[in-house]
Amino acid sequence: MQFTNVHGRPYNEVKHWPPATYRDCSSSTSVALAAFTSFLQTENTNSQNKELQPWIPFCEGRCAFCYFPVNCEKQTISLYLKALKKALAEYAKTKYVKSSVFSELYVGGGSPSVLTKEQTVDLLRYCKETFQLTEDCTIKFTASTNDLSEEKLLALDAGKVDQLDIGIQTFDDSLRKMLNLRDSCKNAVEKLKAVKKKGLRVSIDLLYNLPSQTKEQWVNDLKQALELDVESVDCYPLELYPDTLLTKKIAVGELPSTGDSAKELEMYLEAYSIFKENGYAPTCHNRFSRLKEDFTEPASEVVGTGAGFFMGHMGNHIYSDIEDVKGYIDAVQNGVLPIARLSRLSREDEKRKTMMRIYCRSPVNREKFKAQFGKFPEEEFPDAIQKLHQKGLIETRDGEIRLTEKGDPWRVNIAWEFFNQ
Ligand code: SF4
Repeated sequence: MQFTNVHGRPYNEVKHWPPATYRDCSSSTSVALAAFTSFLQTENTNSQNKELQPWIPFCEGRCAFCYFPVNCEKQTISLYLKALKKALAEYAKTKYVKSSVFSELYVGGGSPSVLTKEQTVDLLRYCKETFQLTEDCTIKFTASTNDLSEEKLLALDAGKVDQLDIGIQTFDDSLRKMLNLRDSCKNAVEKLKAVKKKGLRVSIDLLYNLPSQTKEQWVNDLKQALELDVESVDCYPLELYPDTLLTKKIAVGELPSTGDSAKELEMYLEAYSIFKENGYAPTCHNRFSRLKEDFTEPASEVVGTGAGFFMGHMGNHIYSDIEDVKGYIDAVQNGVLPIARLSRLSREDEKRKTMMRIYCRSPVNREKFKAQFGKFPEEEFPDAIQKLHQKGLIETRDGEIRLTEKGDPWRVNIAWEFFNQ
């Protein structure tokens, strides 16, 4: 492919992390919190899709690459669930959330599949009774194969869960061991088959460019995903975070490092081509999917809470919660919103965020952009748009600006172009 050629590379390396995320959000101040609280007493007039995200930060054990603030103390779960429900209720009683209808309920984490059958049923019931969900609301639940018992599958099925998002990472046993995953490939495959048999949709995460991972191992992972007939696959390049076990082992020479940027790109392109040949198309941030729903308008607002929850977005406010479970429970018990970071997007930020739809593989409608911000995107961001067009990374077609196939591997770099101006 032309863009695998080093001379055709538009950037030195593929960026992994987009701009304008919770990491750039300021710490919550009493002034910002007061403004957010009074905003919550206004009516929500936005009719776009909205998502509800209760967050379960618990896992059976910690994977060697994981940088999430997960907690493995299962004895804290029931106290945490009480606090979580209280925090959800605080949001639910505000005018803004009362006037919000959710088309997706996403139970994220962590591994919410560590919850018992009773806890799972109770949390799902609570969300359905406390918030306004659409009739056909999609329910997604994050899970690990090592704690998906038949009993829990029955509970998820009874709770009308549509889809399980499962962090498989790799089907290769030697790599699974290196990543400190807690079950074998055989068990993971059996669980995926059991989930499919129950009629639930399956979305899996796969990691590539792992230490010592060969191209053959990666292709085998992709083929295994196809063989299992999963609905979608999120492919993530391994990112090494400072305090993870994997990074420490690499630092002391116990493990080789990851491949270079060229190897990483080559692995991504391999996935792109295999999925394309098999009827999956790229969508969202990192997904290859054959589900129609994955190509509809993404949620414009996310109402959620939980220790380590980081996707909060209501109106022009973005927020993330306290990461530590005990700190989260204490805050909720003291009657305060358990928010750690909170920012208000300026009009300038909103324009840039709108252009980030390109990175999520959604087109930007030029007329809608003008109606919202008074200018066409190319008037607002002349240099970035001209440069990206010239490089063939984006195209304008039928009044919409979208990513090209050439631009797809570079979508995060492209998002940064709108923030570097
Ligand atoms: S299961 Fe997911 S959230 Fe839990 S430790 Fe592993 S990678 Fe992190």
